Amino acid sequence: MASSASTKLTVKLLIDSKREKVLFAEASKEVIDFLLNLLRLPLSAVIRLLNKDGMVGSLGNLYLSVENLNDTYMQPDIHKDVLLKPRAPISSQQFSALLPANGDDSDNHNVEASFYTCSNQHCTGAYNVTCDNKTICPHCRFVMTSKITYVGKKVAEDVFPNNSGFVKEVVTYMVMDDLVIQPMSTISSITLLNKFNVKEVGALQEKVVELGMTQGVDLLKASLQSKAVLTSVFLKNISAI
Ligand SMILES: [Zn+2]
Repeated sequence: MASSASTKLTVKLLIDSKREKVLFAEASKEVIDFLLNLLRLPLSAVIRLLNKDGMVGSLGNLYLSVENLNDTYMQPDIHKDVLLKPRAPISSQQFSALLPANGDDSDNHNVEASFYTCSNQHCTGAYNVTCDNKTICPHCRFVMTSKITYVGKKVAEDVFPNNSGFVKEVVTYMVMDDLVIQPMSTISSITLLNKFNVKEVGALQEKVVELGMTQGVDLLKASLQSKAVLTSVFLKNISAI
């Protein structure tokens, strides 16, 4: 995670300055990976990222209700954080710098999860294992604090094969204002100008913009509310939506 703080991504926008609209953005693999990763965010992570008042609809209230609910109403083996701070998908990629961390840093390393077994040496044949070092051993009632290491690779590889994100690097990608994504190479510029009904090519303007954490959160927010995501994030103040 350490190197990700310095990551700065850029996207090149093609803007119709007359209509004040982003026609599309040219984006690298890293930007596309960031956008696709939004699909993997648990809803409650989205609510946390947008703050409850940034949410449209009533999901923010649902979240708040769990926050306010006294622990005594929860099942004894359920911690409220299961709902409030679900484990975020693995985000060791460059785009992890584009959204704030989930709060507890330890939660972001779930592939390296620690497991514990009973610390009572008379119990070593029981093979009980837990990921919570406060669990009571069902055999001897000792607390299960002996750390054991999970060495299997399968889980990590299932989640993020080769640690290389989602899409290939070979092409530049085109992101439409409504977040339709396609490889740039398959579209001719004439097709594009027709598609956008551009009559004055002179009104078109290219602009390179930075994509950092602020814009990352704004993109997430706009993607839930708007069909003109790039326009609202990069041309207009998103809070004006
Ligand atoms: Zn035991």
